[in-house]
Amino acid sequence: MEIDPTRMCELLVGLPGVDVLGVAVPDPGWLIVHVAAREQRPNCARCGTPAWVKDYRDVDLVDLPAFDQRVVLRVTRTRWCCPATRCGVGSWTIEHTEIAPATQKLTTRAGRWATEQVGRYARSVAEVANALGTDWHTINDAVIAYGEALIDADTDRIGTVRALSLDETLFMREGPWRTQRWSTQLVDARTGQLLDIVEGRDATAPAVWLDARDPQWLAGIRWAVMDMSGPYKAVFDTMLPDAEQVIDPFHVVKHANSKLDECRRRVQNETLGHRGHKHDPLYRCRKLLLKAEERLDPAGGVKLTGLLRAGDPRGEVAYAWHAKEAVRFLYDIPRPDLAARYLAELAADLQDNDFPIEVRSLGRTLARWRVEIVNWHRSRATNGPAEAINNLVKRVKRAAFGFRKFRHYRIRSLLYTGRPDWNLLPTITPR
Ligand SMILES: [Zn+2]
Repeated sequence: MEIDPTRMCELLVGLPGVDVLGVAVPDPGWLIVHVAAREQRPNCARCGTPAWVKDYRDVDLVDLPAFDQRVVLRVTRTRWCCPATRCGVGSWTIEHTEIAPATQKLTTRAGRWATEQVGRYARSVAEVANALGTDWHTINDAVIAYGEALIDADTDRIGTVRALSLDETLFMREGPWRTQRWSTQLVDARTGQLLDIVEGRDATAPAVWLDARDPQWLAGIRWAVMDMSGPYKAVFDTMLPDAEQVIDPFHVVKHANSKLDECRRRVQNETLGHRGHKHDPLYRCRKLLLKAEERLDPAGGVKLTGLLRAGDPRGEVAYAWHAKEAVRFLYDIPRPDLAARYLAELAADLQDNDFPIEVRSLGRTLARWRVEIVNWHRSRATNGPAEAINNLVKRVKRAAFGFRKFRHYRIRSLLYTGRPDWNLLPTITPR
């Protein structure tokens, strides 16, 4: 197919409706493509007089690399003015969002590309900035602007949710005392889709978020999944009174492990009079203790037994270890009725006065939450996906060297694990 030579440059640059005015090579590996959008003379918006050209201005935009060179698109923009002396309208330019939105330093196609690289594939901002030959902030600003517009535009992103999970994540440490700042993620516990992230780990923000939902959507939620903390239970009690509450296995086992850890540290202190040192038997077995029994190889099992014999004279840590394993066994029981009976007996047994204080405390906690714990066997709704998201979010945070702004953290996490419809990206223009 023969191409009209006057259109060749336009086709190469891939932007319809622009004239290519020239190409320059300022440095090896760099290309400046000079273009101007074809504009018809506009009329003044106020008085209707045909406008005059006031002057021309060049704006440099970072574009996608081409032919193994980084590209700057130099756009000549016409500033128009009204010739009517008494009109008083200031000068204006015509916006061409197909080239670039007014406030962006990237071309539209480069902005969308950067958003997908960083948002969808979790490439680091620095890496993408380097690929385009620009700086970190330019890319980060573009990702947040296009990303937020994509999340907002994708109104079908959140579908029917049968099991909603709330889970806390540490989103940054701040200030000289490295103060922890927390966020709460709302996750579809069945599909693992991140629905949203809100600030704080108290009841306020999740309740506000739920309050903004359609009542019909809320009514579709049958299972409310959480950890064993009070705030999330309060959210579900008030906002989803008809949903059944579920504590996911991860948090139950985590709690049993923390009681085991507490017991080990107390016994360590009582027997040796100091906190664990690297040669102390109890300190040496701290990681073996937390390992699942079936993951201990024979050598690990022998080592654990030996270290406990040396450091645990009354067998208290061993009790706490058995208690943890007994809690884990709950999740090997498939039938809800059998699991309920097992849990009731276990919770009662662990509260026996012969057991160390930490084990009795574990028994009381299991008794208090036994309905919610066994609801997992009925629902099979799990925070597993939420935990998986936690790990993904950690990866996103590493790639971003930590987030300073909650808004950035939220958008990046939603782009990566919130399953936006990336097919909408070509239609997205940030405000
Ligand atoms: Zn005018």
